Amino acid sequence: MKILIVYFNKPAFSKKFENAIEKTFGIGVISVKKEFKCKTKRKNQCNAENYLPFLEKIVFNSDADIVLGVTSKDIYEKGYIAVYGVSAIEKKSAIVSFARLKSKNKKQFFERLLKESIHEIGHLIGLIHCSNDKCAMKCSLGIGDCDYKIAEFCDKCENELIKCLEKM
Ligand SMILES: [Zn+2]
Ligand SMILES: [Zn+2]
Repeated sequence: MKILIVYFNKPAFSKKFENAIEKTFGIGVISVKKEFKCKTKRKNQCNAENYLPFLEKIVFNSDADIVLGVTSKDIYEKGYIAVYGVSAIEKKSAIVSFARLKSKNKKQFFERLLKESIHEIGHLIGLIHCSNDKCAMKCSLGIGDCDYKIAEFCDKCENELIKCLEKM
């Protein structure tokens, strides 16, 4: 099993990010860079769902099983002003945006992106939202939620993750 990370329009991210994802899931991570032109723009935003069929094709043609796209573009979903990330388990694809995760503190910025990325990959593996405020599967409605949770799963989600991974 492998996780593919697609960096859109050259956001500079490091091996450190990929290593952290690899460690969290115990799954190998590979990465590529892609260009993506968003068609349905809302001001300076892109509908998150536009990325998913694009990512689905990329993962289908790779030797990875699931894919996470990472973009600097601000993304939204119908009914929301903006979202940090979106996933579609049937497409094996998720996207996260760091437009609203930015911080002057580099470590905080890294942690935020990592937490939201782990959250979306968690969905792709079969995890649902968690009511534990510290758990990575807690849905972040604002940056405060994101900062409060940690880049790890609670015991319940960790156990569920193991079960889901066995089924994959
Ligand atoms: Zn979620
Ligand atoms: Zn949990």
